[in-house]
Amino acid sequence: QMLFKYILIGDTEVGKSSIMLQFTEQRYLTNHDMTIGVEFDSRSIDLGGGVTAKLEIWDTAGQERYRSLAPMYYRGATAAIIVYDVTSKSSFEGAKSWVKELQRRGDPHCVIALAANKADLEGKRKVSKEEGDEYAGSNDIIHMQTSAKTGMNIKNLFVEIARKLPKTKVS
Ligand code: GDP
Ligand code: MG
Repeated sequence: QMLFKYILIGDTEVGKSSIMLQFTEQRYLTNHDMTIGVEFDSRSIDLGGGVTAKLEIWDTAGQERYRSLAPMYYRGATAAIIVYDVTSKSSFEGAKSWVKELQRRGDPHCVIALAANKADLEGKRKVSKEEGDEYAGSNDIIHMQTSAKTGMNIKNLFVEIARKLPKTKVS
């Protein structure tokens, strides 16, 4: 089986910890403080054709508040999920700066994906799907509408990324 390290990045309150919890335990909690929550967790996924991958997922544990992350956090990451909140324009701008930081300081082979989270809040949306798609397309990164609340596209996102990763990392 393959082992991949995923990291979750983005401004505070965009739903990073909620995405992790929904993916690893299929649970969603409202009104909780997850900044002091689980630092990392894992889940194995079936990629088809008898291939399974174990994903080790790292949450920022509040580090993102300082607008930069310890290089230790990036180290060895095979994939980065950069999360923004579709109801917050500033979190989308934040996501773009996180993309830049990762392109500058991260592993050049790291697969980057953008999660347009809280897509369940359609009436409050401030960042259109088209705007996100256009940015992601011009930067050659995956872009997916997600909801940690309903679970929409959460598993899909992790699987989609795993499909782009080299299948040679056998552990
Ligand atoms: P983090 O700071 O990025 O880790 O964000 P959290 O996971 O702690 O989530 C921040 C707030 O947004 C919490 O109140 C969550 O319940 C809420 N939240 C997270 N994901 C979603 C989502 O997909 N939809 C909605 N409606 N709320 C969400
Ligand atoms: Mg958090």
